[in-house]
Amino acid sequence: MFAFTSIKEYHSFLASNPSGCSVAAKHYLGKIEENKHLNAFLEVFEAEALQRAAQLDADKLAGKPLGKLHGVIVALKDVICIKGHKVGAASKILEGFTSIYNATATEKLLAEGAIIIGRNNCDEFAMGSSNENSAYGAVKNAIDNSLVPGGSSGGSAVAVQADLCMVSLGSDTGGSVRQPADFCGVIGFKPSYGRISRYGLIAYASSFDQIGIFSKTMDDTALVLEVIAGADNFDSTVSVKPVPEYSKELSTTKKYRFAYFKEALEHEGLDKEIAAQTKAYLETLKSQGHTVEPVDFKLLPYVVPTYYILTTAEASSNLSRFDGVKFGYRAELKKGDDLTALYKKSRSEGFGKEVQSRILLGTFVLSSGYFDAYFTKAQQVRRLLCDTTNEIFKGYDAVISPTVPTTAFKIGEKSDDPIAMYLADIFTVFANLVGIPAISIPLFKHSNGLPFGLQLMTGHFEETTLLQISSMMMGKR
Ligand code: GLN
Repeated sequence: MFAFTSIKEYHSFLASNPSGCSVAAKHYLGKIEENKHLNAFLEVFEAEALQRAAQLDADKLAGKPLGKLHGVIVALKDVICIKGHKVGAASKILEGFTSIYNATATEKLLAEGAIIIGRNNCDEFAMGSSNENSAYGAVKNAIDNSLVPGGSSGGSAVAVQADLCMVSLGSDTGGSVRQPADFCGVIGFKPSYGRISRYGLIAYASSFDQIGIFSKTMDDTALVLEVIAGADNFDSTVSVKPVPEYSKELSTTKKYRFAYFKEALEHEGLDKEIAAQTKAYLETLKSQGHTVEPVDFKLLPYVVPTYYILTTAEASSNLSRFDGVKFGYRAELKKGDDLTALYKKSRSEGFGKEVQSRILLGTFVLSSGYFDAYFTKAQQVRRLLCDTTNEIFKGYDAVISPTVPTTAFKIGEKSDDPIAMYLADIFTVFANLVGIPAISIPLFKHSNGLPFGLQLMTGHFEETTLLQISSMMMGKR
């Protein structure tokens, strides 16, 4: 019986199993089939995965050099392009659309020998915190099928949670990797803005979007990051900073300086037990010799509104390309319908409710009479947040907070209350607003039986420190 613990261990298993990649591929295909009810996959590349596994086994037998991710079974959120495969952002508007190229992240995974096993369900256009906004139905949390897995990368989180793949990629615009990781009890990592290419990632809000990684061990997160990070001629927002070998730099014995936001831990919407366990953990860190100090975060009440003004503005522009002409879905027209009717009908029928309301909100905040009152104001808040961030990281290595104010909620519980849903993002959107790396690590268990995470954030491009601290915390409790 095949069992996966980490990529490193898997590679030692492969050393003594000439058809190990095929064994692993079959194992995961079986697991996906068994767990179909979770709705984590929109499509499984069964034949292709088996064929590639056989090829990788043959390459190894022939003594060819092996990639860092040789035979690693990966699943990708349905916003990351895979050449020759459908990609749809879980939206009806992209129904039937096939990608003609690989995202840079996909290309890099394949170049290091990964096997892509399928594409994961998600909230439509990555908009949501519960995965209920998919045109293909909600994803279920594997711990309790009546609960949401979080969103928007819920399918990718569940794929790792329920052992349907080894690692998966999602996208994180305001918490969409960290929040579902928290709800599912796995690791969810978002790098600095500009660390991983967005080429081939379907855009939601381009100045926020980053590809992120789900895994069960820090070694795996670090290894996947070093493979997919780095400069790219196809995305000028990616940094040319060299990519460290993160996976070789994880061990640390340093004593760190941690800050935490008082306002976050005292927030009225924060579950009491999450607050208590997080505070107790801060005490543990102190007893281990680290410095842990509160810092003011007076801007906390503004982060969610700022995030929703700026991301919807960017989304309204990004999603204007889905017009019924260039991609996917086109409405049926009646005699006499003109071009405007084609646009209106295609977009009204093709986009789901949440996406439509965000396009409307984004269009509103960009409209001439309101631009300064909303968009410009929000940009100013973003600037202030960046200044605050730079100040904080002059004195501290990392900021600690809960990842989400509650544990996973019931499917349907918040679907009629957008404000309650948006508040699920209160602790995560900050990192995207300022572009710093952040992670959720599954350190805690609530008395309701559900897991929850600790969020850590470091300064720009301080991924090594973030991964080191996370490994230290995951290893030593
Ligand atoms: N939940 C947030 C939203 O709905 C975050 C989404 C994301 O990170 N893609 O916008």
